[in-house]
Amino acid sequence: MLISTVVPCYNEEKVIGLTYEELSSELRGITDDYEIIFVDDGSRDATLALLKGFASCDRHVKYISFSRNFGKESAMLAGLRYSSGDFTVIMDADLQHPPELIGKMLEYGRQGFDQVIAQRDREGDKKTGAFFARAYYRLVDRLTDVKLTDGIGDFRMLSRKALDALLTMNEYNRFSKGLFSWIGFKEKIISYRNRSRAAGSSKWSFGSLIHYGVDGVLSFNNKPLRFCFFIGAAAIIISLIYLISLFVSIVFKGIDLPGYFTTIFTICLFGGVQLISIGIIGEYVGRIYYEVKRRPHYLVDETNFEKGAEQK
Ligand code: UDP
Ligand code: MG
Repeated sequence: MLISTVVPCYNEEKVIGLTYEELSSELRGITDDYEIIFVDDGSRDATLALLKGFASCDRHVKYISFSRNFGKESAMLAGLRYSSGDFTVIMDADLQHPPELIGKMLEYGRQGFDQVIAQRDREGDKKTGAFFARAYYRLVDRLTDVKLTDGIGDFRMLSRKALDALLTMNEYNRFSKGLFSWIGFKEKIISYRNRSRAAGSSKWSFGSLIHYGVDGVLSFNNKPLRFCFFIGAAAIIISLIYLISLFVSIVFKGIDLPGYFTTIFTICLFGGVQLISIGIIGEYVGRIYYEVKRRPHYLVDETNFEKGAEQK
């Protein structure tokens, strides 16, 4: 197999037909040796029925259907595990990732680049959204050891080598953007014009974006824990200075009782610092909890892959 494309789909009945057509006509123009792996992430609409329809009249189409919605990360992982291509392209089902780029990606792939990454501009994005996204990337860049870049997402082509490397990471909490960057290898970035969804609606709410953002920071290192340590240390030093100055003033001027403000202030301040620190530790403990359970990332309900096609 030359090219495998992995397409996670969740309630995409409105757009999946269009995606299938555009993607296959693009791939047909490149080679006959390709497969399209649709991963149905527990859709509650007609997505799976449509996928089966494509598969019944096109041998290039494979589908994997989950027993429920496991999230895009799990869907991508499943697709990647079943992929048998020398090159694997990951793309969204809503045509926001233009299939026309695959030809160019393959060219670079053949030149020896292990990750050919498509970077989008922020044309037509909501101003506030773009602002928060940029701020977030800057923050994550500072807080973690992996390099994330604005406009770079999951749309990319991986060589067999890069894909195998990616699959060695079996962690339960997956943050692909970080994992892609963590494995390294030779990278090539190509850029494309931002596109809006061809049809249907986005699956992201503001809340889920926040969760995703926190995952990004926490899944890559323990810097937030260290940050708590430094805040604690700074608090101890400041309070020691304050205590000494208070002691000196008591020795020289005697005790003056009024101190309500400072008392309340310190209680609130340190109460807050402690709660945040415990919260951060809790986040890590929670992650450890999920990791040690070693639950599967997804459960497959139906597929037209043969048994054992999955790479563990
Ligand atoms: N997706 C998925 N499972 C989910 C949510 C989304 O497989 O739980 C897929 C979705 O079908 C699409 C891709 O992930 O192919 C990106 O989702 P969406 O277009 O809603 O995100 P956006 O482009 O708005 O970031
Ligand atoms: Mg989209």
